[in-house]
Order: sequence, then C-alpha cells, then structure tokens
Amino acid sequence: MTVRTRADLDALPGYVPGKSVPGAIKLASNEVSLGPLPSVVKAVAEAASRINRYPDSAAGELVAALARKLGVAEDNVSVGCGSVTLCQQLIQATCTEADEVLFPWRSFEAYPVVTQVVGAAQVRVPLTGGHALDVDAMIAAITPATRLVFVCTPNNPTGTALRREELERFIDAVPADVLVVIDEAYREFVSDPEVPDGVEVAKEQWARGRDNVAVLRTFSKAYGLAGLRVGYLVAPEAVTAVVRKVFVPFGVNALAQVAALASLEAEDELFARCREIVAERGRVRSALVDAGYEVPETQANFVWLPLGARTAEFNEHCLAHKVVVRAFVGDGARVTIGTAEENDTFLAAALAFPR
Ligand SMILES: *Cc1c(COP(=O)(O)O)cnc(C)c1O
Repeated sequence: MTVRTRADLDALPGYVPGKSVPGAIKLASNEVSLGPLPSVVKAVAEAASRINRYPDSAAGELVAALARKLGVAEDNVSVGCGSVTLCQQLIQATCTEADEVLFPWRSFEAYPVVTQVVGAAQVRVPLTGGHALDVDAMIAAITPATRLVFVCTPNNPTGTALRREELERFIDAVPADVLVVIDEAYREFVSDPEVPDGVEVAKEQWARGRDNVAVLRTFSKAYGLAGLRVGYLVAPEAVTAVVRKVFVPFGVNALAQVAALASLEAEDELFARCREIVAERGRVRSALVDAGYEVPETQANFVWLPLGARTAEFNEHCLAHKVVVRAFVGDGARVTIGTAEENDTFLAAALAFPR
C-alpha cells in the first residue's frame, strides 16, 4: 500500500531553481551579486541573540514602515515569506478548483506551480512577437471563471515592461470582481519614465473605486535579501484581510523582518547599487546587440536571449566558460546583470558562442 496523495499533482513539475556551480559565476537567479550592506548584517547579527523567541507574526513594524514609505494605510500592506508565498496566498484567497488564474507566458516560473498547488486552472497567454505582455490577448482570455490575473512587469524572464497606457487600458478592461496582481519584483531597476509605478497606479485605481488592483514587491532582488525570504503585497483592505487568513503563522522570520527594516533605512545605498546595475545592463545589452544577438529592451536586472532551439547549446557553452545562466530549453536564456567583472566574463563567453 502506498499513501494516497493528490493525483492532480502527479503532472506537476517541481520548481527548478537557478543552479549554483562551484567555481562558476552565478547569473541564474536575478540576485544582486554584491553582498549585504554592513548595516544590514549588523542588524541581523544583533537580532540573532533573540531567536529563541517567535517573531511578530504580523510583522507590525515592517508593515508600518512600508505603509509610511508607500503612502498607504497599514491595512493595505501584507508581508510574506517571499512574494512567491504571497502569490500562492492570493490564489488560495481567491480561487477554488472551478476557477482560473490568468498569466502571460513565458513569465515567472512560480505562477503555474502555485496555481496548480491550489488546484485552480491555469490560463497562459502567449507573449507578443516582441517578447512583451500581450495586453489585448490577455483581455480576450478573461472568462467568467477568471478570478486572478498576474501582470508581471517588468516580465521575468524577458525584461519587458508595460507602459502606463497599456497597464491602465488593461485594468480598465478587467471586470471589477477579478483581482489584477501587478508583480513588480524588479520595480527598482526600471529606468524608463513611461513605465509607471504600480503602487501609484493602484492607489489611483482605488481612488476611483476600483478595488481590484494589487501590487507585489520583494526584498529579494534590489534589496539583496534573497536568502532571507521576505516580500510584500500592497492591496485594498478586503484583499489583505483575506490573504492574511490563508497565511502560515510566523511565516516571515525574525531575522528577515529586521533585515528588511534595516534595508529600508539603507535605501540610498541600495538604490545606488541598482543604478550601477542599470548602467551595466545598458552596456551588456549593447554589446550583445552589436554582436548580433536579439535582446528585447529590458527594465529589469537581467537580459533575455530568445535563442529558441539553440538555448541548450548556449547554456552548455556558458557553463564551459564558468558562467551559469538560466536556460529555458527551446525558448531562451535569461542572464542576470552582475558586477562589471562578472558581466565581462559572460560577454566574453557570449561573443565566443558560434552564431
Ligand atoms: C523573484 C521574483 C519574485 C519573488 O521572489 P521572492 O524571493 O519569493 O520574493 C516574484 N515575482 C517575480 C516575477 C520574480 O522574478
């Protein structure tokens, strides 16, 4: 006799994280290459002496600091064990098995997984030929069963971002009882002024009585805390209330809370790093384009190489040059922007790839 488990999970592929290869440069997970700031390490070290105690389950201090920074009420903010956990909570809070979650594809690898774990149906809407979210096709794919739509902008893994007009046109077309979740994991790397701040867009929508717009952000990318797992949701109170109902108690650990607070204090330093990454992004993309690669315009801390059938070969080639990229076999490779030196190593590998 084997234990009876959910048959629908048999078909679910596990989430594949970016690989770490000893001795190689890891540009596979969109992390920040530089280590944590000394001020953040100090705060975490001090908090380590109190880890015999449970954390604040509601992360009150962090929620208050985020609400102040974003100009929203504390009831509009909910934190989670990484924003990927908040993705799952949002689906749990809105969907049952009869319902549909809509998202662009290719997009964030976790969307299909968390949707299926909850038992809802996935509706994947292909990107445009330019590797961007296809707003019209997403609007057309909404059905009476749609409960939640993920709008990943900038999109992981293609880096493309929606302009204000596109995002607002999309929100206007979504029925008011369908939750629009703007996933802004890479917001801090956006340099194009035409790409709106999702929290500002959400606040404008709420003011118009549109209570179906929410935003996800994370401390994993620009804030450099991927290893500690903390992200946040900015949403109407009715949404944060139900998201909190489906949370796992004490999900955001004490060190993560302290590190996130210390990182908010150190935003100037962290965002200076982001600007360097953005400058490097421009340099890397230009070099790749000059070398004949197709590289969609990117607003995130990575570039996308739509190499199609040659993706696996490119991946092997980069590994041989001691660079780990993120390959989506048959589709393309996503390469995180690292330090100037790391980027040079990657560019040398990419330029040596036979084309
Ligand atoms: C990295 C990422 C996240 C979140 O990651 P956490 O580490 O779970 O906060 C969310 N959405 C997208 C699109 C991402 O790329």
